[in-house]
Amino acid sequence: MGPVGHFAVGLAAKPVAPKVPLGVLFLATWLLDVLAIAFGFAGIEGAKSGIPWSHGLFMSVIWSVLAAILTSSIYRKRRAGAVVGLLVFSHWVLDFVSHPIPFSSFSWRSWQWSYGHPLPSDLPLLFSDSPKVGLGLYNTISAVEATALEFGLFILGATVYAAYVVKKRKAGRSQPA
Ligand SMILES: [Zn+2]
Repeated sequence: MGPVGHFAVGLAAKPVAPKVPLGVLFLATWLLDVLAIAFGFAGIEGAKSGIPWSHGLFMSVIWSVLAAILTSSIYRKRRAGAVVGLLVFSHWVLDFVSHPIPFSSFSWRSWQWSYGHPLPSDLPLLFSDSPKVGLGLYNTISAVEATALEFGLFILGATVYAAYVVKKRKAGRSQPA
């Protein structure tokens, strides 16, 4: 899934982790892709070796636990740590539904965006040689549909976030000065 869909989950999580800045919540939902980019540059992951260190189920659990421990020690709130840990893992869950992501292209003949040829699953359970999983939603829908889905999720998350901000402002106003 793209960053827009992942950020939606970060927005929706703000009411349950009010102490944690939105930027940190966004980073948590996108951490596995940040790692994938870093590992790609470092040559640890790539076309040949796949994405076991950033997106393997086993390593995703490890990153989630590490993020939870780090966050709860920074904010001295266990719940903040638990929420951030779950956000990191939510990335894997959304990717599990959507992956693999074929390259999209625009067809001038039919005047529409579409995904390329369906790809094999790319999320390993453990490391490089372990079985790979993924429900492959983005193999079956068009790029336009996938984009609409991600922005739809984002609007849902933004609605939850906006409701929280309004509620907080009202509570602040009713308090005696
Ligand atoms: Zn990802």
